[in-house]
Amino acid sequence: MNILLTNDDGVGARGLRELRRALAPLGSVTVVAPDRERSSTSHSLTLRQPLRVCRVEEGVSSVDGTPTDCVLLAVHDLLDRPPDLLVSGINHGPNLGDDVTYSGTVAAAFEGTLLGIPSVAISLVLDGPGCQDAPGRFDGAAGFARRLARQVGREGLPPGTLLNVNVPDLPAAELAGFRWTRLGKRVYENVVSRGRDARGEVYFEIGGDLTWREEEGTDFAALAEGFISVTPVHLDLTDYQALGLMRSWDLSGGG
Ligand code: MN
Repeated sequence: MNILLTNDDGVGARGLRELRRALAPLGSVTVVAPDRERSSTSHSLTLRQPLRVCRVEEGVSSVDGTPTDCVLLAVHDLLDRPPDLLVSGINHGPNLGDDVTYSGTVAAAFEGTLLGIPSVAISLVLDGPGCQDAPGRFDGAAGFARRLARQVGREGLPPGTLLNVNVPDLPAAELAGFRWTRLGKRVYENVVSRGRDARGEVYFEIGGDLTWREEEGTDFAALAEGFISVTPVHLDLTDYQALGLMRSWDLSGGG
């Protein structure tokens, strides 16, 4: 099996190294990842600006672009043939509920899915800043990534569907197992804070507290109980119910 790995924490991130080590026994693993941290870049694409690829070591390249750029370059140029599987991560920090729309990790899996490649995004639910050498316990996430990769390699995924995985930061022996979940609802508190810098100028920071609406069956609920969460995410964002309702709108003009 040919496996493409990427992330949004940068080519040197610990989560990516652990993922590469975990998946190596499954086949040929190639890493194409951003040359620096590009978290929260969502599905952004670099246009009208040349991209440079740097060979870091055998099977590992970095790109001075976004996670989406990395997947595009890998699939359309750098690889001899399209990979059988794409795995993005292991992200340093959660990608849950509504936040998947900001995530560079999940966006790389979006891109893989759009290119017809079975794709998985995997994140470790670390607290605090996601520094390169995050002290998290990646072994549980890495082991689950290997089991899931083997299964997805065998079964494939439905067209347009990726898997979004979040793993609690617990020793592998303390993980409660895994649950199939739906995306939960984030509750935003103190999203924007205002401060003053040393010169007395006002600045703003976006951040805030991670809280969520407590609902059964969600990714948040599974993690709160020590389970790994696996959410199938579909890329067709069309709201079919709304489409039915709005067909009766009269927007023909003349009013
Ligand atoms: Mn990240």
